[in-house]
Amino acid sequence: MRPPVVIILGETSVAIARQIQAALPAATIYGLAGRTQSVDVPYANFGDTVRELFSKGTPIIGICAAGILIRSLATLLTDKRAEPPVIVVADDGSAVVPLLGGLTGANELATTIARALDTNAAITATGQLRFNIVLEAPPRGYRLVNPEHAKAFTSDLISGATVRLLGDASWLSQSNLPFTTDGTHTIEVSDRPVAGSATHLVYQPVVVPGKLAIVGTGPGAAEWMSPEVKAMLQAATDLVGYKTYLDLVGAFAQGKRHESDNRVELDRARQALELAAEGRSVVVVSSGDPGIYAMAAAVFEVIDREANPAWQQLEIHVAPGISAMQAAAAAIGAPLGHDFCAISLSDILKPWSVIEERIALAAQADFAMAFYNPVSKQRTWQLDKAKEILMKWRSPATPVVLARNLGRSGQSVQVIALDQLTAAHADMRTVLLIGSSKTRTIARADGNVWVYTPRHYEG
Ligand code: SAH
Repeated sequence: MRPPVVIILGETSVAIARQIQAALPAATIYGLAGRTQSVDVPYANFGDTVRELFSKGTPIIGICAAGILIRSLATLLTDKRAEPPVIVVADDGSAVVPLLGGLTGANELATTIARALDTNAAITATGQLRFNIVLEAPPRGYRLVNPEHAKAFTSDLISGATVRLLGDASWLSQSNLPFTTDGTHTIEVSDRPVAGSATHLVYQPVVVPGKLAIVGTGPGAAEWMSPEVKAMLQAATDLVGYKTYLDLVGAFAQGKRHESDNRVELDRARQALELAAEGRSVVVVSSGDPGIYAMAAAVFEVIDREANPAWQQLEIHVAPGISAMQAAAAAIGAPLGHDFCAISLSDILKPWSVIEERIALAAQADFAMAFYNPVSKQRTWQLDKAKEILMKWRSPATPVVLARNLGRSGQSVQVIALDQLTAAHADMRTVLLIGSSKTRTIARADGNVWVYTPRHYEG
């Protein structure tokens, strides 16, 4: 399911919306511009916004009157199998009604919301109510062979028909369906081809392709994590990553952790691919952006090198995150406002000679630069050497931003001149931004400075 949107019309609904968001951390709150102040995303027109969300398959939770949602979506209601959940919540939180999307999880979503608001969901789908199951929507791993018969079959059950179960599946046997050994109707679970009928539903087990997502959580805590990443963390069966990163995603990781202190990224990538190939839904967790000095490239490298056919079947998705250099730049102004590049000073995966040459050429090309992995316990002299190279091409007064523990406790952002820089200024939790020849500072009233790189070249 895509991350849901909670849509509201006035500021008085924000408190209920936040309560819903606490139960569904991937949800984003949309509020009518001019009538709401503290929402995540303002919108201008209610009808256009819900129609656009609905068309993209986004679950919609409206805190409003049912009528306004129904009228807004009326012209789009053509395919019940494809429609996302649409749920309406009374603006005092007393009523939760699933309106649409019974086949795509609306009843379950409404039940989750109702629990968070300490009320009951007004479930009107009879099959779901009586039997705790929607025959048309079997769980992942099963396919209904004759969906055209599901509606009549359910109506017969509601009118008193009974069911004989052939084959076995716990989601059926644990439901409240009226099973008897001599039922008037039959539900069959079979991996052989069987023709169904109006009194005989047939489910076939299907191979579920495993899923692998490589996500970036941003440099810090929850506010910098995208709704997409939160939804993927929530939906995953298994999370793979360094202990520190799994700790950062806290609540999402319970019972799903595959912690590793293994420094070899390719081994971790292989472990994630193997889990996904078993049909699991695996998320590899990186900090910052997963494609910047992180796990996404490692996963593709393993797939590319080892050409395992099972891995080629996997559904793979990379979800972007805010990288440390972006958070550092934002904290101090706009030092990456014009052309820039990123260089990792780690010489574990590439030789130092390449790094040296790259810094020299980037300095000559007058790029602003972000230095990742500047210093560690083993990497002690590289930053001093990098400075020496930069000093050949840049003025000693070039602003250098030292940003440490961005978005985490103990965040610090400091600006010094290039000629002051030493390896002691940085550690493995620091990202550095080196100004170009155009980068400037502006004094602030509090004694600190802004740093920016103009986009204009005079003349
Ligand atoms: N994928 C990450 C980078 C991982 S490499 C990203 O896109 O941000 C690890 C390096 O990133 C660290 O040595 C440091 O230079 C930088 N870094 C990561 N998180 C940081 C943070 N919260 N504050 C400052 N620097 C950080």
